[in-house]
Amino acid sequence: MKVDISNLLCGKDKVIDIEFEVTQESNCDIDFEVLDVDSINLYCNGKLFKQNDAVFIELKYKAKLVAPCSRCLELAEQNITSELHDMLCDKSGQAYEDIQNLLEHHDFLIGEYILEDIIMNRQPQILCSEQCEGICSKCGVNLNYEECTCESQSFDPRLSALKDFFTDREV
Ligand SMILES: [Zn+2]
Ligand SMILES: [Zn+2]
Repeated sequence: MKVDISNLLCGKDKVIDIEFEVTQESNCDIDFEVLDVDSINLYCNGKLFKQNDAVFIELKYKAKLVAPCSRCLELAEQNITSELHDMLCDKSGQAYEDIQNLLEHHDFLIGEYILEDIIMNRQPQILCSEQCEGICSKCGVNLNYEECTCESQSFDPRLSALKDFFTDREV
């Protein structure tokens, strides 16, 4: 997904409005694979404009990532909202340093730009809830719905010694 900024640079346009939505079904060339999610829904609006001999971008987006919960594997979602403001290039089209890989001649790679921000803002794990109990590693039940009788803690000799200490005192 690209935006041609030639008309901003030559002065033909003052503003380029941006509004688009990406849903699971739609074809788009943004490489969402790197997010490793089942689906993504993205809504974005903003503008590119020229001011004081430089080209700027102002953008807001909402992204919903859907993937299995990292603990219990039920489908869960993570919502990200973000606002971006950046200077893209000077009036000759010379890109600013941290934008350089996003400007191919006069095409601004807006999809990559948003993707980088999603990667920076997302939580490393998608969880159905912070309190998710996950799945018992021994019997496989979903501990959010069921209890099981498996030993939940692995054997810890320090705790065992402490237990003996209290047991001895009680006798
Ligand atoms: Zn969960
Ligand atoms: Zn169990």
